Amino acid sequence: MLDVKNLRHVYGGQVVAIDDITLQVNEGELVAIVGPSGCGKSTLLKALAGLMPASGGSIRFFGEPVSNVPAGLAMVFQDYSRSLYPWMRVRKNVELPLLYQPVSADERAERVSQSLAAVGLDHAADRYPWQLSGGMQQRVAIARALAYRPKLLLMDEPFASVDAQTRAELEDLVIEVRARYSITTLVVTHDIDEAVYLADRVIVLSRSPSRVLEEVVVDLPPARDQIATKALDRFVALRSQVARLIRSSENALKEPARPQAARPTKSD
Ligand code: ADP
Repeated sequence: MLDVKNLRHVYGGQVVAIDDITLQVNEGELVAIVGPSGCGKSTLLKALAGLMPASGGSIRFFGEPVSNVPAGLAMVFQDYSRSLYPWMRVRKNVELPLLYQPVSADERAERVSQSLAAVGLDHAADRYPWQLSGGMQQRVAIARALAYRPKLLLMDEPFASVDAQTRAELEDLVIEVRARYSITTLVVTHDIDEAVYLADRVIVLSRSPSRVLEEVVVDLPPARDQIATKALDRFVALRSQVARLIRSSENALKEPARPQAARPTKSD
């Protein structure tokens, strides 16, 4: 579904945020991308969403080159307070992307109530975002993405701004809606536990300028549970594997460059 080859991004001709990223996402998968802070995760998502042209390489979505925001793609950002319109009721916020689609008024109303019910917010349709808690606002943002019925859902650190309990609830919500709607999902996070808990596959990025360090297949039972799954030996082993990979990339950066042995020349 998504095919990224040798992606490179340089800001202002100087800051190399992404060096060379190649990755694929298959239909129906939930893939997590992890890496140290500042490694280029948000840059990667913005490029994938067609919000920013890459400096090199290619991105294809269903075989088509991505040069603009592709139809069938929705994105949920970390900062829910800036992604919802405070003067619009929850219902209107969720309906908004559908107003630009060939969807009848009846179908719009149906999709809005279904999506709000899916995130447990059917009772809040007539409230304003500022009347809701942070976790509820992020649920509204997820409901808006669901109402659009995306083929691919991109999430950029979606739960970084909520408390730990709400975060766990939202993680389970993502697993539940993904199972119900079979939406292919790519989640960027710096939280290793979250990546392993949510995903079928974790792609580990190196420090900026980033490259793919490794892809770790999460061979855990598909039904996840915050307590039981995280207590499994396999979960602990996978999270340690990902943590070691990230640490090795950080240590590689701290090590002083070894002097290069002089190359023999023809005259030697
Ligand atoms: P992450 O999401 O992994 O924290 P980012 O994609 O935000 O990383 O940033 C990757 C690198 O690119 C960092 O070194 C950051 O300072 C730099 N960067 C991000 N946005 C810009 C920008 N608009 N202009 C210049 N440099 C940027």
